[in-house]
Amino acid sequence: MEIKIVPTTCPYCGTGCGLNLVVRDGKVVSLAAWQRHPVNDGKLCPKGRYAHEFIHSEDRLKKPLIKRDGKLVETTWEEAYDHIVKKFKSYKPEEMACLASAQVTNEENYLMQKFARAALKTPNIDNGARLSQSSTIVGLEAAFGYGAMTNNIGDIAESKCVLVLGSNTLEQHPLIGRSILRAKLNGAKVIVFDPRYTTTARQADLYASLYSGTDVALLNGMMQHIIKNGWEAKEFIEKRTKGFDKLKATVMKPEYGLDNVSGITGIPAKDIATAAEWFAKSPSACLVYSLGITQHATGVDNVKSVANLLMLTGNIGKVGGGVNALCDQNNAQGACDMGALPNFYSGYLDVTLEPNITKIKDAWGCDIAVGKVGYSATEIINVLADDPSRLKALYIMGENPMVSNPDLTRVEHALKNLEFLIVQDIFLTETAQMADVVLPAACYAEKDGTQTNTERRVQRLRKAVEPPGEAKADWQIICELGKKMGQEKQFTFNSPEDIFNEIAKVTPLYGGMSYARLEKPESLHWPCPTPDHPGTPILHTEKFANTDGLGVFTSLEFKPPAEVPDAEFPLILTTGRCIWQWNDGSMTRRSPSLEKEAPAAWIEINSDDAKALGIRNSEVVHAVTRRGAVNVTAKVTSGIKRNEVFMPSHYAESAVNKLTNNVLDPVAMVPELKACAVRIEKIKEA
Ligand code: SF4
Repeated sequence: MEIKIVPTTCPYCGTGCGLNLVVRDGKVVSLAAWQRHPVNDGKLCPKGRYAHEFIHSEDRLKKPLIKRDGKLVETTWEEAYDHIVKKFKSYKPEEMACLASAQVTNEENYLMQKFARAALKTPNIDNGARLSQSSTIVGLEAAFGYGAMTNNIGDIAESKCVLVLGSNTLEQHPLIGRSILRAKLNGAKVIVFDPRYTTTARQADLYASLYSGTDVALLNGMMQHIIKNGWEAKEFIEKRTKGFDKLKATVMKPEYGLDNVSGITGIPAKDIATAAEWFAKSPSACLVYSLGITQHATGVDNVKSVANLLMLTGNIGKVGGGVNALCDQNNAQGACDMGALPNFYSGYLDVTLEPNITKIKDAWGCDIAVGKVGYSATEIINVLADDPSRLKALYIMGENPMVSNPDLTRVEHALKNLEFLIVQDIFLTETAQMADVVLPAACYAEKDGTQTNTERRVQRLRKAVEPPGEAKADWQIICELGKKMGQEKQFTFNSPEDIFNEIAKVTPLYGGMSYARLEKPESLHWPCPTPDHPGTPILHTEKFANTDGLGVFTSLEFKPPAEVPDAEFPLILTTGRCIWQWNDGSMTRRSPSLEKEAPAAWIEINSDDAKALGIRNSEVVHAVTRRGAVNVTAKVTSGIKRNEVFMPSHYAESAVNKLTNNVLDPVAMVPELKACAVRIEKIKEA
């Protein structure tokens, strides 16, 4: 009996904890935390602890499937590839789109965007981080020059004041939550504003509940209080930023006075004042946020507003400061870094600029898609729903829009409008069930590669076991398809390391990285432009990454969520996740140890609201919005703000996304998954 220990990286959240997979007789039988790993320091959350349990699930996809007479049946790789290539060759480039994945490796995302641009010549390429991370990329890029978390995870523990907005960090990113707890032990003040009294909120020195989608009003109110009291970082503002006067003119308006902001947010005025004072007067202060900030129609405004507060208080470019923007998925940052985006090549090179087009053409040795911005993932669904003549074929790798996207009735209608859908995944997901061809892929434990965590740290995945049946790694599938599309030279790679070497050549942020350098567990944070560069754990220490080196304040007015409560739909529905499940549940729900803890959806309702509606705890209720309805079990609690309800997003059978609103941030195209109007009905007994 041979036992092998294979060090690798967790496949779930953006924290990027190190794991050791225990392999016996070709199977992953257990795992343990990587003891001296720089991210998790020998600890794992429950999801990471049981991340081996789904690997050998009986229902893993093992052979390619093809649709015949309306049914998916097994086929050979040759037949699947021939069919795909024939179909792709029958469409015009702009009639096709590809969707890469925030859950697979950098190498695979790089190849998928190369496949779209070089093999299909389509500009329509995006990845699943469109549902979350894009607000951060757009907002922080505009403010600081790089659209990414400014500091590193360990650095949060050095802060003297931690403000948490839109993040239940201790449940969603537990090993980052640990850094918040360490900061608290070191004497930091912890402030949490959230509609729910979450596990994270319970650790706060100051907690108040706020209404979802009121963050810009809150931040403007805090900034007004800081400026009124003269607590702003005058020297930092003077030397390192621009746009302060306009910001000041906006935030000093009477509508951002404490009492008015209290009325908008639901947070007592004295708590807003205390938060502002603690944040401005602490020797260092940082802000931690996640999807509660990004998943709004004003997601980019929210992110820019966070950047405003941090610059106003001089908390950028220093230890214990920073905008800690937490990625929800293991490789959301990497998928975007790799150019699986409609507007950027890898390393955020603008696709419309001639020097960048020439650089990519020269590197790849072929013509590429026209230099224009393609459709984002959310636009793809909208185009298919509204005008399907513009898009005919979609190739999805490792994403499940039939659970993850808002307004699922519309998503289903959109996908049914496709002439040709390919889904490449490890399970027959709700989206894969609609496909014309399904390609079986390898999971994280069955392939080599790299992924980039939320703090821009690039880390290795290492192959521990073979994929089941005939399944193959995503990178191998894309290479084989690329060659069959006639691009032998562009898609001949013998290993993920070969692909990474090309990434380093064309992506300045990764230019100094190699597999040899990434072998060390300390790994490297981008930017790392040259082979002797140590990487950059803290950004913007001397100057910002904008061309003139200055940080940019943006003056922002508060805009309420696109859909606010009214007589017909009187409550606000917000969404999120729990510690036991992850995203669409396709992996965690196949992990028995996790599934038994949280096997079904629920809706949290404030005790007073429940009483008014005559609803008891554990009763099944009917939740209805303008887009759909689901039956779900009520969890009556005092731990949620009045007039607000919460549902988790992991459960296809009571899918909260049947209810959510498809309205998008106009720049980042991120949907407003965190706020819509809902009605809760008591189900009458027969
Ligand atoms: Fe995995 Fe995130 Fe948990 Fe770490 S915190 S073990 S990366 S799910």
